[in-house]
Amino acid sequence: MEKVLPLRFMWDPPMEGLYLRTAMMFKLEQYRNDPVRRCYNHAATTYSTNQNMDPTRIKHVVHCVNHSSSIYIEENEHLSVLTPLCTPEAGSSYMPMCYKFFCKNSCPSGMNRRPTELVFTLESSGGKVLGRRKLLIRICSCPKRDKKKEERELVPENPPNNHLTKRNSKHPMHSGKKMSCDIYKIELNIIGKENYLAVLKYAYDIMAGQAMKTGQYELFKPYMDDILHNVP
Ligand SMILES: [Zn+2]
Repeated sequence: MEKVLPLRFMWDPPMEGLYLRTAMMFKLEQYRNDPVRRCYNHAATTYSTNQNMDPTRIKHVVHCVNHSSSIYIEENEHLSVLTPLCTPEAGSSYMPMCYKFFCKNSCPSGMNRRPTELVFTLESSGGKVLGRRKLLIRICSCPKRDKKKEERELVPENPPNNHLTKRNSKHPMHSGKKMSCDIYKIELNIIGKENYLAVLKYAYDIMAGQAMKTGQYELFKPYMDDILHNVP
């Protein structure tokens, strides 16, 4: 909460006169029509952060902090921020946007533990929607703890005991928390240098990911170095 999230926006063709609308929405269908607003506690005028805040922004969870021309809009209780898009500066292909969040997903009288996403729409000056992107987002006190908890929930503890999972159970990608340290050697003939490099890169990335996840850099390093030696 109250930390800056920098994002980069690109649109093609990079024409002028367009707007970016940023809205926070509940991800689940059953809450889709509920507006995402700050909780009573954080939206109170007595709350310290609100002392110097423009009153039109106080109800908004998400603020755009690097574009002073952003307009804070309320329509049928739904809130969004509309920012005029200037073309990217010379030598740059994107427009940077910095966001700040002024409530947590856990705030009881606000988002109340409901999952949220940022919805970005590219709009013409007449309000016509030309493009849309979504980004799942959660504002919490301990992102690392929450991330680990959710990842643990995503990995099945006991995968179904069918033939396929049994065969693959030694493979690190399918083994849940336990990882196989067996070494498998592959010799392949690949047509095309690009394809050959792509296969090497994939193998390298898989091991780099596992090394990061498990902290066992020493175990993976010689095999990752081996791949690098094969790169012409
Ligand atoms: Zn709050």
